[in-house]
Amino acid sequence: MKSKKLPLAFWIFIGLVVGVAAGLIFMVIPGGVDIAKSYVKPWGTIFLNLLKFIVVPIVLFSIASGVISMQDISKVGSVGGKTVIYYMCTTAFAVILALILSSAAKALHLFAPLATTGLEYTPPEGQSLMSTIVNIFPSNPITPLANATMLQVIVISLLIGFGILLAGEKGLVAAQVVDSFNEVSMKIMDLIIKLSPFGVACLICPVVAENGPEVLGKLAMVLLVAYVGYAVHAIVVYSTTVRALGGVSPLAFFKGMAPAMMMAFSSASSVGTLPFTLECSERLGARCEVASFVLPLGATINMDGTAIYQGVCAVFIASCYGIDLTIGQMATIVLTATLASIGTAGVPGAGMVMLAMVLQSVNIPVEGIALVAGIDRIFDMGRTTINITGDAACAVIISKLEDRKAARTSGALQ
Ligand code: ASP
Repeated sequence: MKSKKLPLAFWIFIGLVVGVAAGLIFMVIPGGVDIAKSYVKPWGTIFLNLLKFIVVPIVLFSIASGVISMQDISKVGSVGGKTVIYYMCTTAFAVILALILSSAAKALHLFAPLATTGLEYTPPEGQSLMSTIVNIFPSNPITPLANATMLQVIVISLLIGFGILLAGEKGLVAAQVVDSFNEVSMKIMDLIIKLSPFGVACLICPVVAENGPEVLGKLAMVLLVAYVGYAVHAIVVYSTTVRALGGVSPLAFFKGMAPAMMMAFSSASSVGTLPFTLECSERLGARCEVASFVLPLGATINMDGTAIYQGVCAVFIASCYGIDLTIGQMATIVLTATLASIGTAGVPGAGMVMLAMVLQSVNIPVEGIALVAGIDRIFDMGRTTINITGDAACAVIISKLEDRKAARTSGALQ
């Protein structure tokens, strides 16, 4: 998707600033919070609904057309393998970083135990690992599309792509249909993206109005540790990998990603931000067929920000209950948080649900989630921003690796 010199980034930024300013005003005027919730939030919801509406067609057609355009299944395997390795390694690193930072904060007594009374959070039923795996595979082709069950949609899309490749000439018509629908979905997405400055303002305003006073309270420290973790991860991991493996300067990378990052920050949804992530990473040099395969997959399974949040909150909640985590428990957290982030849907609040699984794995009381639940949205804005930045870094890097591989092959042929 070609577009002009990104005036959109500027307008999204303006939307963000206006939304925050309006939120602060609503916070101080009497009854302002209710006005923000009743009359501003619905417009943000309409914008999010439109994004959600287009996301399933985009994932379905873009992954399938990405597979088709790679033209042979072994190439899909090679790109897929590298993608999953990058995603898993960076996520494991993210949890380790979170555990180090939060243990340091605990040692410095920055995580003062909170009053653990009045916990009202009812944890959702946890899912076993095996049933999570079973649920990835759909038993019919329609329900996953209707319910936007993203892992199942990805499986459907991969199977359609593989089927078309294997059908050879007889699959040509299907390939054209997929391609054409892919193009149409992208155009619809373009229209929706035009509304983003307004959408971003309406999304952020009620969040600021509702959460302002609480953030100033005791939880500020755990938020701060999580945000330091997000920033360090972005600077250390994404800067170095896009520079070393992707050949892109970190400054250019973050500048190019700014619109998508602002969108992620205000929507707290990786899946909803997908159209922006696709556009920004292609502008940064990601190949179309790689981006359309790697990014929808990443929006669903790659959640470095969520992993950081889970690591920080696990240590924080444990210290609220006076529990000292052992090295073994920390290793378990690294493993479960990495797996939990794969199972986390790219929608607002999903990471908090999966936090229950991480806490359970090391016997930290799951009710402790109530301590951080009230300000989850603020954690979520940061973690989603990191989640999508990691996806885009991967798309840029894999594209570069594929370019080098193609250059080597053509060099060898000459
Ligand atoms: N909101 C996050 C995302 O969409 C998931 C989470 O809740 O951690 O990436």
